[in-house]
Amino acid sequence: MPEPMRADELLALDQQHVWHPYGPMPGRQRPLVVESAAGVRLRLAEPMAGRRELVDGMSSWWSAIHGYNHPVLNEAARGQLERMSHVMFGGLTHEPAVRLAKRLVDITPEGLEHVFLADSGSVSVEVAVKMCLQYWRSVGEVGKQRLLTWRGGYHGDTWQPMAVCDPDGGMHELWSGRLPRQIFAQAPPAGFDADPDEAYVRHLRELIGRHAHELAAVIVEPVVQGAGGMRFHSPAYVRALREACDEHGVLLVLDEIATGFGRTGALFAAEHAGVTPDVLCVGKALTGGYLTMAATLCTPRVAEGISRGEVPVLAHGPTFMANPLAAAVADASLGLLLGQDWAGEVKRIEAGLREGLAPARGLPGVRDVRVLGAIGVVQLDREVDMAAATRAAVREGVWLRPFRDMVYTMPPFVAGDEDVARIGAAVCAAAAEG
Ligand SMILES: *Cc1c(COP(=O)(O)O)cnc(C)c1O
Repeated sequence: MPEPMRADELLALDQQHVWHPYGPMPGRQRPLVVESAAGVRLRLAEPMAGRRELVDGMSSWWSAIHGYNHPVLNEAARGQLERMSHVMFGGLTHEPAVRLAKRLVDITPEGLEHVFLADSGSVSVEVAVKMCLQYWRSVGEVGKQRLLTWRGGYHGDTWQPMAVCDPDGGMHELWSGRLPRQIFAQAPPAGFDADPDEAYVRHLRELIGRHAHELAAVIVEPVVQGAGGMRFHSPAYVRALREACDEHGVLLVLDEIATGFGRTGALFAAEHAGVTPDVLCVGKALTGGYLTMAATLCTPRVAEGISRGEVPVLAHGPTFMANPLAAAVADASLGLLLGQDWAGEVKRIEAGLREGLAPARGLPGVRDVRVLGAIGVVQLDREVDMAAATRAAVREGVWLRPFRDMVYTMPPFVAGDEDVARIGAAVCAAAAEG
């Protein structure tokens, strides 16, 4: 091991050389230096506001559902490391990939039989789009090459995913005229429990019907729109999409990269709607936050369609496809998840967040407070002051990363009641001061 770097030296080099998500170069905000992490706690290299340890309210962007440094996941990684950390997937296969694929087929909605193991969420969406476009070419419907989505979505930062992100986002506007032009429905009316709005359902049906001749697929995040605005909607709209897609001969892609693996209270958000998509993307929590891996699953109909084409193969194959280390940890992470009462844990956190976030309703400038499963959101009437909100959360001993007008949390499922209460207090403090 090299000598540990001094924090000031590290930060100077970081600012000079290292891009951060959606960041300028050189960096302008001073990131916190994390030295290690265990359970639900991040350990900082130097204290901030008197805190050296922070309860993680973000699960490293939805992924670290079992917390950090978990003995079972560590053991899975170590065991696989000693066999092989990677081997190419062309012409070769291995047990971690096969086990993981079989497990994903078993636990995802009925009918999804084939698994493409990709190396990130965005790539899994690229693969999903490629599957759909190639399917229609292969079955001779060459005109069906566009996508439809609803506003307010987020599907990743590479090209095809960006084209179906909310078109009013800054990044999207930057590239208008360069991105493939897709079709946007209005954003789904808010509220998981709200009665479905019949006019909105008609709007979806009408738009899908009108564009069916040119539509390869509809792609949406079911039930929870994540990075596009942390909005919840009725599962009835997902059912309506399924029906309209079936009626008009359009494929349905559900992006469960954020919602998959229990986060919304169902193992997959599609289950709230009782729907099987033609193509499903999962990622984020897939490896329990250890390594980068995502998966695109599809039905036999999609796979067989592609096989009938002039080019009868799915033309995609990343270097690190099905990385054995990531696959072994993912399989262990799913084993951990399914081997416990995950639904009970998510319900417990949901109850804790409802209680902990309730005081935010009384704060000036708070527009909405909402909780679904292990997701809690406080929406303000203004852009959050990131530095002030971060400081307020850190003072409460919690790591939060607000964005736009939202202070939000999705705790690791292993967060205890006290941790959840602390996170709730920190969200309120960040909403008050941010
Ligand atoms: C995070 C996310 C992605 C992109 O995944 P990356 O691993 O960041 O590329 C795509 N879709 C949804 C719904 C996401 O939340």
